[in-house]
Amino acid sequence: MALSESKAYAVVIGGGFYGVNIALYLAQQNKGQVVLLEKENGLLTRASYHNQARVHNGYHYPRSFTTAYRSRINLPRFAADWPDAVKTDFTKLYAIARNNSKVTAKQFTRFCKEIGATIEPSEDYSHLFNNRLIEQAFLVEEYAFDASVLAAWAQEQLKLAGIELLLSASVTEITNKQPGLVVSYGYKESIQKISAEKVFNCTYSGLNQFGGDFIGTHTKLKHEVTEMALMQMPDNLKNIGITVMDGPFFSMMPFPARGLHTLSHVRYTPHFNWLDEKGVNPYEKLALYEKQTRVDRMVRDVQRYIPDVAKAEYRDSLFEVKTILVKNETDDGRPILFEEYPDLPGLYSVLGGKIDNIYDVLERLNNEV
Ligand SMILES: Cc1cc2nc3c(=O)[nH]c(=O)nc-3n(C[C@H](O)[C@H](O)[C@H](O)COP(=O)(O)OP(=O)(O)OC[C@H]3O[C@@H](n4cnc5c(N)ncnc54)[C@H](O)[C@@H]3O)c2cc1C
Repeated sequence: MALSESKAYAVVIGGGFYGVNIALYLAQQNKGQVVLLEKENGLLTRASYHNQARVHNGYHYPRSFTTAYRSRINLPRFAADWPDAVKTDFTKLYAIARNNSKVTAKQFTRFCKEIGATIEPSEDYSHLFNNRLIEQAFLVEEYAFDASVLAAWAQEQLKLAGIELLLSASVTEITNKQPGLVVSYGYKESIQKISAEKVFNCTYSGLNQFGGDFIGTHTKLKHEVTEMALMQMPDNLKNIGITVMDGPFFSMMPFPARGLHTLSHVRYTPHFNWLDEKGVNPYEKLALYEKQTRVDRMVRDVQRYIPDVAKAEYRDSLFEVKTILVKNETDDGRPILFEEYPDLPGLYSVLGGKIDNIYDVLERLNNEV
């Protein structure tokens, strides 16, 4: 194996939406070369693509006021910054189930008013629902994003900013070599090393899977192998996104990157979960998992609430590891993780629980880096 060493001002590990935006931020600072290392052979191919594509506007988080409120602030910014990637031209409905829901229609309305989110009871779509199971449907304001448009944007912007992008470059170690850090990665069958003043660990599910001197994040993580079914909806559901709240229910959202809908269900989308542990690599765990779709069970339950879903055609499934902070397991909150390490100056770990949290990360970078 060949071994070569190089130098940069900053190394960003992970070419998802977070890594790309952080690399662009660092390049704008003009302090030296920025290098972005990504283990896959493309940008935004993992969680930044394999997700529900919802630009949240708060509705999803009746149990976490802060996340709901931050979503309200971030959605208009996201829509203004990535207009070509944001789909707004579909009907957005949230519905409250009569049984087993953690909120009633009245409580949900009050909560939306508190966070200042548009909500309008709607009878126009009640024919879509089984009204014995649905208390009330509401028209709301929420969007979907197209991850393939974001990926094309990322590729172009990195080039314009002069950032060195290495794909199929899998980082294995972060070691302390003050003043700075050394990042080791496998690339084209050789081990390479880069030393840098700043290293950003933006690897989402892989945050704690490095050898060397990094002992891991302080914040405890939990991983879930998730499945979202990709469906071709019948004509009367094609231009609609529906989420039934708040409990063991489901969402069907446009997935613009494929012109289909995702169907996800609180009971069937998570296949299994485990607490984060160094040495148990979530990506490998997913790769080894025999991915048997649960779409039949999803459709069977969803059609009780929305009978026409029975006419949807299954196309494919997106399987991905979803990583959350253990502390938010019960309230569904999606704050950012942004950590520094006194014994490894210059190293930062970043995880954004949802795509529009990028603004919260950029704010921290502005204040602290
Ligand atoms: C099932 C699911 C549904 C979701 N739904 C939504 C939603 O509707 N709306 C929303 O806003 N958010 C949603 N999210 C969350 C959202 O997808 C994430 O917040 C966001 O994509 C995180 O971006 P990222 O760049 O941190 O992660 P990623 O896009 O996963 O990027 C991390 C990158 O690091 C790379 N990497 C990992 N280890 C290494 C290594 N050792 N060396 C080099 N590269 C490495 C990976 O290959 C990957 O490309 C969902 C997530 C999941 C999984």
